[in-house]
Amino acid sequence: MAANWKMNKTVAETQAFLNEFIPVVRDVKDVEIVIAPPFTSLHTASAILKNTDIKLSAQDVFYEDKGAFTGEVSPAMLSDIGCKYVIIGHSERRQYFKETDEIVNRKIKASLKHNLNVIFCIGESLQEREAGKTFEVLNRELTEGLKDVPAEGWVAAYEPIWAIGTGRTATPEQAQEAHKYIREKLSSLYGMAAQEIRILYGGSVTPDNIESLMRCNDVDGTLVGGASLKVDSFAKIVKYKK
Ligand code: PEP
Repeated sequence: MAANWKMNKTVAETQAFLNEFIPVVRDVKDVEIVIAPPFTSLHTASAILKNTDIKLSAQDVFYEDKGAFTGEVSPAMLSDIGCKYVIIGHSERRQYFKETDEIVNRKIKASLKHNLNVIFCIGESLQEREAGKTFEVLNRELTEGLKDVPAEGWVAAYEPIWAIGTGRTATPEQAQEAHKYIREKLSSLYGMAAQEIRILYGGSVTPDNIESLMRCNDVDGTLVGGASLKVDSFAKIVKYKK
């Protein structure tokens, strides 16, 4: 279960969240918990999470190791401060910052080189869904994004853009249909290894819909935006089985 805080929470707010959240989920053993605060909170979060099983993630990364790239952060820098994961290809980055499949692919390869696990986001817009292009978009994003990428070190996150931050969740049937397609595509790329690749669902996940989404065969976890900003709701998502 991964929390994407996006551009939310100061350092003090990050500390307050984690200090309250850690004891609440201490008894959770069978769910991998990942939290992605903004860059400014990563260092503080890393120190607080040090003796816990909760993994730290960044929300983006650049593909070069170092150099004259003002404003950017490299995979080595993220590893250095204790990040274990990085989100790559989020639809907001593709939409507002014009990230192409090629850039996403370069970022994935650079991150794996520095032992950062990748949460690789894909998903169609409402317009694309209504035009019957969902599978075409997923096929393109997977083919291009995963060029020369091995089967290990990353998870996929299916995030239909029309469900992100809108309160309009995909139905379990819609989620399963897309996840099944993704699994089949991964099988064509990686053979049997595709069965081990986790596919997360993201898009208006809440404590109320988590159970029905997690019941889908090919939904292995979730990437949570809005509902991850409050301890109570993210803890309920993490503990959905109880
Ligand atoms: C996200 O942006 O990754 C996301 C899933 O957001 P939300 O849960 O708010 O829809």
